[in-house]
Amino acid sequence: MESLTLLYAITAALFGLVFGSFFNVVGIRVVKKESIAYPPSRCVHCDHELKPLDLIPVLSYLGLRGACRYCRAKISPIYPIGEFVTSAAFAVTTWQIGPSFDLIVGLIFVSILMICSIADIMYRIIPDVVVFSGMIAALLLRIWIHPLPFWNYFAAFFIGGGLLYLIALASILVLKKEGMGGGDIKLFAFIGLIAGIKLTLFTLFAASLLGTIYGLVQMLVKSSREDQGIPFGPFIAAGAFFSYFWGEPLITWYLSLLHYN
Ligand SMILES: [Zn+2]
Repeated sequence: MESLTLLYAITAALFGLVFGSFFNVVGIRVVKKESIAYPPSRCVHCDHELKPLDLIPVLSYLGLRGACRYCRAKISPIYPIGEFVTSAAFAVTTWQIGPSFDLIVGLIFVSILMICSIADIMYRIIPDVVVFSGMIAALLLRIWIHPLPFWNYFAAFFIGGGLLYLIALASILVLKKEGMGGGDIKLFAFIGLIAGIKLTLFTLFAASLLGTIYGLVQMLVKSSREDQGIPFGPFIAAGAFFSYFWGEPLITWYLSLLHYN
């Protein structure tokens, strides 16, 4: 059984490479309001149409040493990173959940998180069309597949979105600057529908922790640079992914520490 799950996970990793490549296209084109099916991919610098050989996930980037084959302009590392991270996330999701209906929920969850992260890194936008599609899919799936009672996911939608809304409001009122965008609020509401109340709250904790660590490291590395504002989406996504699989055991472990002391 174990080896069969491993085989599924490896298969998921390969699919993840292809999907990651697709998510790059979606994350980038949706923001630019372009069709995701047409035209075929082009170099953003010289506009040369990319051939299948240029579109092999991760490998073509490495083979071309990060430059366009035609004009030698540098290609953003976001492409191979998006492909690699999607591949890894698909593999972990499949390994953790195994072949079941739950896996559909898990893979859709990861897909939406990936596209939103890519768009947020590239353009500082979490596209409405992506996150709303995710919400509809999550709602329909959760009516059908719900390890927790359905109301829990439904309530988490409002709790997740509401909490982020309050944080956004507080940051505008207190810090007089926009710390959190509307996209982050919607993304959290989506996470609520998939993860339920407890893990949504844990996601907020994990995402803030990751964001803070990253911010501190960035401050240490380039102390003189002015604050460019870090997109929070990728940290929310990473926090949600982590919580979804390891939040429950971590919370249980933490509570057991409190209990025995
Ligand atoms: Zn080019």
